[in-house]
Amino acid sequence: MSRTLLVVVSICMVAMIAGCATDKASKAETTKVQPAAAAKTEPAAEPKPTVQYVDTPTGRWMVHDESRPAPPIITPGAGCGERPSDATMLFDGTQASMANWTDTKKEPSKWVVGDGYMESVKGAGYIQTKQEFGSCQLHVEFATPSKVQGTSQGRGNSGVFLHGQYEIQVLDSYDNKTYPDGQCAALYGRAVPLVNVCRKPGEWQSYDIVYHRPLFDKDGKVTRKATFTVFQNGVLVQDHVVLEGGTGWINAHTITDYKPHGDKGPIQLQDHGNPVRYRNIWVRELKD
Ligand code: MG
Repeated sequence: MSRTLLVVVSICMVAMIAGCATDKASKAETTKVQPAAAAKTEPAAEPKPTVQYVDTPTGRWMVHDESRPAPPIITPGAGCGERPSDATMLFDGTQASMANWTDTKKEPSKWVVGDGYMESVKGAGYIQTKQEFGSCQLHVEFATPSKVQGTSQGRGNSGVFLHGQYEIQVLDSYDNKTYPDGQCAALYGRAVPLVNVCRKPGEWQSYDIVYHRPLFDKDGKVTRKATFTVFQNGVLVQDHVVLEGGTGWINAHTITDYKPHGDKGPIQLQDHGNPVRYRNIWVRELKD
């Protein structure tokens, strides 16, 4: 009897092992088949993000988050930068120096020249240098309108674009709340200035910018990101900041990524619909 039971148990164990093996083989077969079946199917498109976040020493914030802590407000000293002997003059306040500039279609710009300054004209579009630049040191003086109109991004908005790509925001940020990564001296959507050193509306201010361009490989992938050091009114506001991507507005909380471009591009000033003035613009080319 016990011998018969032993035989039955043995047969059952062999059957179970065989069953497991068959089951494993079956699963393995299924696994083998799946990639072939998947290869025939189009991959699902990844959903595009509508909100981007950035981790900072003050916490995690959305791009263009009004709740993000704004930088402290300080008062600048007097004085601006005169052009050194090795700099290229781009605008010296004269009508003649407007010959260095065009609109983005390379036609004469509709920006107007006043007493020692040029002023943006609503609808005229960006103005840009005929000459193109890569890594450089740039001096720009600007004044937002003395007549205060609008709020947030609608007050004294313009911008200085390096390489025709990357915007250092120009805005009336004197007692004008907006999202800190879009206030005056921000690398738009990318970096909040260290301090708010803005003068009053209508007063002349300056930017001194040290820009090193990004590098791209043959496939268009960025291999070295751009860096920015910026002084506003002689005060450091961007300290060798690595630009993590583009500065183009996509929607309320989304900003552009890097896209490949040439070694050089124009310096542009933005028409954002507000009459912002510029004067004393000069540039020195730098090694990469
Ligand atoms: Mg702007």
